[in-house]
Formats: sequence, structure tokens, C-alpha cells
Amino acid sequence: MSTTIVREDIAVLENESFAPCWERVKMRLKAAYGEPTFKSWLGAMQYEGADARQVQLTVPTRFMREWITAHYAEDILRFCRMEDPSLISLDIRVRPAHTPMVGAATMLEPVKRPLPDLQPRRPEESAWTASTTSLAATIAEPAEHVGAPLDPRFTFENFVVGKPNELAHAAARRVAENNAVMQGCNPLFLYGGVGLGKTHLMHAIAWHIRRNTPSRKVIYLSAEKFMYQFIRALRFKEALAFKEQFRSVDVLMIDDVQFISGKDSTQEEFFHTFNALVDQNKQLVISGDRSPSDLDIEERVRSRLGWGLVADIHATSYELRLGILQSKIEKMAGVQIPPKVLEFLAHKISSNVRELEGALNRVVAHATFVGKAVTLETTQEVLHDLLRANDRRITIEDIQKQVAGHYNIKVSDMHSARRARAVARPRQVAMYLSKRLTSKSLPEIGRRFGGKDHTTVMHAVKRVEEICKIDNDFAQDVDLLTKMLQN
Ligand code: ADP
Ligand code: MG
Repeated sequence: MSTTIVREDIAVLENESFAPCWERVKMRLKAAYGEPTFKSWLGAMQYEGADARQVQLTVPTRFMREWITAHYAEDILRFCRMEDPSLISLDIRVRPAHTPMVGAATMLEPVKRPLPDLQPRRPEESAWTASTTSLAATIAEPAEHVGAPLDPRFTFENFVVGKPNELAHAAARRVAENNAVMQGCNPLFLYGGVGLGKTHLMHAIAWHIRRNTPSRKVIYLSAEKFMYQFIRALRFKEALAFKEQFRSVDVLMIDDVQFISGKDSTQEEFFHTFNALVDQNKQLVISGDRSPSDLDIEERVRSRLGWGLVADIHATSYELRLGILQSKIEKMAGVQIPPKVLEFLAHKISSNVRELEGALNRVVAHATFVGKAVTLETTQEVLHDLLRANDRRITIEDIQKQVAGHYNIKVSDMHSARRARAVARPRQVAMYLSKRLTSKSLPEIGRRFGGKDHTTVMHAVKRVEEICKIDNDFAQDVDLLTKMLQN
């Protein structure tokens, strides 16, 4: 028997998404050191792959390895960490003479297996390779091929909690930390607008379980992938096996379930899988961009989705945005950003966390490229297009004002409960436009119209659509209002 135990049950922390990042790291190195240095030293590095903590590189000679390690490793790691702050080290090895440089296309291929030991390790080899043995031993593909890969950055540790997401976060933690199914939390339904952290929380649950209770089988996949696999199974007459693989899991997570709406046979299969799992007392976590009651799906699926805990992730607050920026900066070792700039970003980029992260990355990348400190002025310059778009974003207040003005009613009528047609109809138009022209959810819109229920908003949207079809003048009014708001 072999003495090496390869722990299959430990999750792969494979960082599939790093290959394109490596291309950017190279560009940064080129910019930082100039073409000649890059050509003679850094260009000879070959990217071999990355996991959640380490980037693996090879160079042609031992001398080159020593030189790069002594002179450039710190910056290489720093640039890598700008792409992925969870990285903690580089592994630079000498590649055997017969290994050819791979072309750009193959370099984009993620490394699927542990790297073969390219050189017999000698005791004098530097610390850069010290952790390689344990690393190779922990890399093993988890059994499930049905699921999607997990993003190594999406962990609980990297999730900043604030008022808008505290319920969703607490529920996700409970699901992750409890071995048994959480009564009252099954299914856990996370809903909220784009870029507010739904996928992040689901991956965090999966990481937590894989690390702490690897015997529990977790599958995470998008509803889109679920549907694709289902259709494929039908085509290849493997429907039974398809069902079985889901029914043998302990925790099934399906992301962006709104994708399934309207797709009848997938809904049916989803429902059966769902029922089977709930009956067997398995945990389900589902996400969607709206609440179960607003999903365009069959009534029985809808009601079953709403059985457990429905946790709404609200739009971010200024404090949460600032907290997220601070946490990201802390992880980018050596990057200095004045608090004023962070406050400015948190104030200006209010749409969603994905855009906020994008803005921060752009500011940091620019500073690295030109080698200058980040200031409020450079930030405004680098982000001028994004800032303009955020400034132009239509708010519910704009809509209420514009619509009230158009119909000659008071803005306060937008918040009132008065049912007289003269105010009720304009209010419905304003709700309709809020749904169409902003990214706010139905409950959020309801709240902003004097604390109305989301069903009232939904009804308003439907009603306006119906009237537009039969009343030409009304349709023209709505069209005109839309154009005025968009200008
Ligand atoms: P969604 O699935 O809701 O569209 P994601 O989970 O993909 O959104 O989040 C978008 C980006 O914002 C991700 O990079 C994620 O890490 C980040 N993000 C969202 N919320 C938070 C948070 N509370 N703390 C840290 N990062 C967050
Ligand atoms: Mg998502």
C-alpha cells in the first residue's frame, strides 16, 4: 500500500479564473519594469496554474529562479494579489529542459490536476517551494461533476455584514454551521437585486461545509446549468441518473432560480427533485432576483419555495459600501488609498457591490500603472465615465416628482393611501416607471411609496401595461414621461 494519503474529501481550492488575471499581471510587470527587463527576465516565466492561495510558475533555469525570487517576487506577488487578494504565495520552479513553452491559448486552460513534481526537491531550495508537497496532497477533484466551480474569494471571511444583508448572512451561516437541516430554514431562499452578494453567500456556505464537514455532499449550480443538464439527460436518456445524483446530496444550492421561470419541463423536474430532497430532510438553498411570490412559476413550485426562510438582501447602505471597500483594501497588501477616496467611492457608486469593486480595482490598477499615489482628483479622472453613469441614474424621487408634475398632483400624493383615480392612477404610473427605470426591487419600491406592499406595486405594473395596450393617449403619456426621465 502506498504511504501517501491523498485526501479526496478535502475540497480543491482551484482557482480557475486566475489565468486571465495572469495576463494582466504580466502587463503590470511590463509597465513597472519596462520592456527590456521584462523581456530578459520576467517574460521567461511560464504560468502553470493557481489554487486559492498560490500561483505556480516555472522558469527555464535555476539561476533565473534565484534572480527572479530575489528581485521581482515581491512585486509579482503584489500584482497577483491585486487580482486576487486571497493569494499568499508564489511557487517558482525550474522546468525540465524538454518542457516547451506553451502558447497563449493553452495558457488560458486552467490546470486541472496537481502539478507533477518538475524537479526532485533539494533541501536547499527556497521557501517558495516549501509548501508544495502538502499542497499537491490536498488537491483532489471533488466527486461531483454536476456542480459549478466555487470562487475562492467568496467566503464568509470575505463577506462584510451590514444592516441590508444581516438576515441573509445569519441564515446562510446557520445553514453552513449546522449539520442537520435547519427547521424553518428549509429551503433558504435568498433574494435581492444584481450584485448584492447572493452568489457570494452560497459559495461561502459550500466552502464552509467542504472545509468543516467534508463528508456532507454539497452541490452548487446555477438554475441555468441545472436546466442544461436536465435537457441533456433527456436527450441521452439519462433522466433517471440525473435525478439520482441530486437526490443523493445533503445540501443542494441553485442560484438564479428566476432563470427557470416559464420553462415548464425544467420546472417540473426541479419541483420533483425539490420535493424528494425536502422529504428526505435535505437542505436546500435557492437564490433569485425576486421573492418566490413574484416569480413567474407554477403556483405549487412557488408556494413550496416560500415554505422555509425567505431572506431579502436590501440595496447597500453607505456604511456597508464603505465597510466593503475598507475590507478589500486591507487585503491588497501595500496599497494605500486615502480615506477620502474610499468615502467618495462609497458615496458615488451606489448601484451594487460588483460595480463598487470594479471601480476600486480600476483606481488601484491606474495608480500601479502610472506609479503615482491615489488622490481624489485621479480617482475622478479614472472613473469619469462610471461616475457620470451613476449620476445620471434615475431615482424613485425623480420619477415621483416628474410624474406628479405631469399629472398636476402633489408629490406627497405619491406616498398617500388616497384611492381617488386622479391620484391613484399617476401613482401607478410612477410605480411602473420605478420598476422599469431603476434596479429597485418590488418591496423596495413599495416602501418608497408610503410603505405599500410589493403586491400593490406588481398590480400597478400590470395595470399600466394593460391600459397602455388599449388607451393610446395614456400610452403616449407614459412614453413621454419615460423619455423625459431618461434625458
Ligand atoms: P449576486 O449573486 O447577488 O448578483 P455576487 O454574489 O456575485 O452578487 O456579488 C457581486 C460581487 O460583490 C462579488 O465580487 C462579491 O464578492 C461582492 N460582494 C457582494 N456583497 C458583498 C459583501 N457584503 N462583502 C464583500 N463582498 C461582497
Ligand atoms: Mg449571482
